[in-house]
Amino acid sequence: MYEMCPGLDEPGTTFVWHVKAKNGTVALCGLPLMSAAKPVETDRHCPSCMTSFGRLVDQRG
Ligand SMILES: [Zn+2]
Repeated sequence: MYEMCPGLDEPGTTFVWHVKAKNGTVALCGLPLMSAAKPVETDRHCPSCMTSFGRLVDQRG
């Protein structure tokens, strides 16, 4: 299982939604995710996570 987790983007300037394994602490793009200190509202998604997640879904059929 995977879940969305908010975190900073690559430059560290904007919050985006990353994808991580249910029990993982690192996003699919390799970013270490800390537990969110506060609720984040963003419409952006991490492109690297989206690409990796797409591949995982494809592999599972
Ligand atoms: Zn990411």
